Amino acid sequence: MAALEIVRIPVLSDNYVWLVHESESGATMVVDPAVADPVLAAATERGWTITDIWNTHWHPDHTGGNAAIKEATGCTITGPAAEAARIPTLDITVTGGDTVRLGNHVAAVWDVPAHTAGHIAYHFADDGAIFVGDTLFAMGCGRLFEGTAEQMFANMQRLAELDDATRVYCAHEYTLSNARFAVTVEPDNSALAKRLAAVETARSAGDATVPTTIGEERATNPFLRANSATELGRIRALKDAA
Ligand SMILES: [Zn+2]
Repeated sequence: MAALEIVRIPVLSDNYVWLVHESESGATMVVDPAVADPVLAAATERGWTITDIWNTHWHPDHTGGNAAIKEATGCTITGPAAEAARIPTLDITVTGGDTVRLGNHVAAVWDVPAHTAGHIAYHFADDGAIFVGDTLFAMGCGRLFEGTAEQMFANMQRLAELDDATRVYCAHEYTLSNARFAVTVEPDNSALAKRLAAVETARSAGDATVPTTIGEERATNPFLRANSATELGRIRALKDAA
């Protein structure tokens, strides 16, 4: 099975849209298109036609490009059943435990409520890749807009069980801010101090810092490393106030 080709498209101030191409079938999927034009251009540039959009949650900076991409390509839009009323462009609704196909590659749908009530993630186990939307970030996690610390803690626990090498495709470049906050939570974590320095270098050169990996997050992410929902909630509140 050929590897998925995954292209990062930076849009708006700090969003990443992911373009995913499956070469055997020719299927091309977009995760969370905030906007349409740069995504259509990135596909055209590569000679790919977008066949699918997969949304992780309803926020406009994850769904704003749905209608225009569908109009341009006739693609099929898949997203969380629990948020169908807030994503009127959905063709197919899915929920945790369902599977979604991109050509010969299969992704399992995870329910990861907390940032939004119906937030889902897409896990390509055979490819070692997971698209998490605004649930897990490099050294951070999503804000708890529609859910609880208990839910986010359960999400973190589940993600932490994946193989270290699993690549985590999140939807924002928040890494530097997250790293600067994380070192205040874990001042004695040497892996974290080292990662902050690497991220500072990367960002001053204008380089992206995602995808990240589960192994890196297990070593440096205070939210993934929290021992309880209470601890996660306390750290989240501190970050919100920072
Ligand atoms: Zn969001």
